[in-house]
Amino acid sequence: MLRVYSYRMSYNITLQCGCLVYVACDPKTGLSHTRILEAKGPWCRARRHEIGFRLFLWEILPDPAYTPRPVFVSDGSRMAPV
Ligand SMILES: [Zn+2]
Repeated sequence: MLRVYSYRMSYNITLQCGCLVYVACDPKTGLSHTRILEAKGPWCRARRHEIGFRLFLWEILPDPAYTPRPVFVSDGSRMAPV
């Protein structure tokens, strides 16, 4: 499988399902133009999430039904009561 890692600006993001997606950005515009599934999440049930599969932007956007749970690193002692 051919992999193109010549882009200067790129990063990996982890989806909700645990899959790791490689995002390549255009060095000039900084906009992501290629998203390739790098590693399959252990609990991913999405059939389309195959390693090497090119993902569209809307496919990696958060699911509206997904409610993120914030992880607080502070014990809240410094938080003023509202
Ligand atoms: Zn997945």
